[in-house]
Amino acid sequence: MTQYEPVIGLEIHAELQTNSKMFCSCSADYSNAPEPNTFICPVCTGLPGAMPVLNKKAIEQAILVGLSLNCSINEFNTFARKNYFYPDLPKGYQISQYDLPIASKGFLDILDDTESPMRVVVRRVHLEEDTAKLSHEKNYALVDFNRAGVPLLEIVSEPDMRTVEAALSYATKIRAILRYLRVNSGDMEKGVLRFEANVSVRPSGSSELRTRTEIKNLNSFRALTRASAYEIERQIKVYENGGEVVQETLGWDEAHGVTVSQRGKEDAHDYRYFPEPDLPPLQLERTWIDDIKNQLPELPDAKTARFISDFKLTPSEAHLLTSEQTLASYFESIVANSKSSTKTIHSWIAGEFMRYMNDSGLALEEINLPAEKFAQLIDMVTDKTISGNSGKIVLNEMLKSGGGDPQEIVKVKNLAQVSDTGFIQEAIEKILSDNPKEVEQFLAGKETIIQWLMGQVARATKGKADPNVAKELLVKALEERRK
Ligand code: ADP
Ligand code: MG
Ligand code: ZN
Repeated sequence: MTQYEPVIGLEIHAELQTNSKMFCSCSADYSNAPEPNTFICPVCTGLPGAMPVLNKKAIEQAILVGLSLNCSINEFNTFARKNYFYPDLPKGYQISQYDLPIASKGFLDILDDTESPMRVVVRRVHLEEDTAKLSHEKNYALVDFNRAGVPLLEIVSEPDMRTVEAALSYATKIRAILRYLRVNSGDMEKGVLRFEANVSVRPSGSSELRTRTEIKNLNSFRALTRASAYEIERQIKVYENGGEVVQETLGWDEAHGVTVSQRGKEDAHDYRYFPEPDLPPLQLERTWIDDIKNQLPELPDAKTARFISDFKLTPSEAHLLTSEQTLASYFESIVANSKSSTKTIHSWIAGEFMRYMNDSGLALEEINLPAEKFAQLIDMVTDKTISGNSGKIVLNEMLKSGGGDPQEIVKVKNLAQVSDTGFIQEAIEKILSDNPKEVEQFLAGKETIIQWLMGQVARATKGKADPNVAKELLVKALEERRK
């Protein structure tokens, strides 16, 4: 049986976080519009005679993205009309870039399905405008132009990915970079970041590019992976049955888990691209590009490498912390305020802290636990003022109340750890005389019973006994009983 290899190329649409729209001064923050069709003007509703004017901030953000994806920035830019008729497109064309995109020929290094590094070539990054939003009602459709004309960036990869995991890894990393650059929130539920997967399959070992299908409007990582995996299987079956894959545009039916045909192949000539007559070519000054280059933040790869070398973390520990810029700087603030090791701090963040974030559904920005307080708490566990378990209780208390002084909480909850041997000794003696059967088992050689007895000690002392001291005393008390 023939083995098949998937070939995947991604097109990613990202709205830019500018104040105003791409070609007019209307607010681009349409999710905060009071009502549909309030953030509109003659330009973004396509009234005859209205003239577009370029948004400088959008160009700056596009350059930031291009540089971050290792692209060359094209100093000479032109805009083009991409013509098609649809009710969400008031002008009957979208202003886009065609033969001269703002950035091209870049790359992004990712980890594939076997965690090995691989390079995906970024073919081009170009500027365009978003469309209006349609809502389909029973017998009619409504159109809201608040989104029409919002700056949109399209990032197109070469068909370099060979597994669904690699495509996911590429998409995830693009999202992280856009968030690092603060040009896109990455909030896929709001539709500000959308994927299109181009998928084909070919016999393993072959280097031909076979006919592809394009799955549009994938609004989550889950949709991206499920739709691509489905399409790979579907195409393999077509070839296995002696058929041919037809080039077409597909949609993803999330509820039924299938791709559905939307329309047949469309080529560039179907869009009748021609130069936008209302916008002169855009010549970028080299010095401006260099200024923008100087504004680039430390990006995920560089940060990960620094975390590994400076903080002695493993690649996967570092990777977790640098997945979000805010998380990475939170970690760094805790490190700066704490005497505990970076490994210990990492495990508090990766463990109890992230569990709280997951359970509560809160984003880091919504949690207001100052790094100094978190550092203080971790240090209290490190210097054995409180046990690890009590530390978790205190942390959750601080997270719930949005701050609070860890020392105060320890006092109020009476959690301070006791290494006073008299107090622990007393508890142990009582436990041993209450549980003669277990003592006998221990004396008969069942050492594992110690775990159970330690549990009793923790319970009797309300978790305040220093476990090392308690264990030592417990073993001693048991050995005493041998005599
Ligand atoms: P255009 O849309 O201008 O015709 P292409 O068809 O070459 O451009 O590419 C559009 C997207 O499809 C790109 O992301 C590219 O990587 C991807 N792609 C092109 N050919 C294939 C293929 N045979 N299999 C999978 N993806 C492909
Ligand atoms: Mg496309
Ligand atoms: Zn407008």
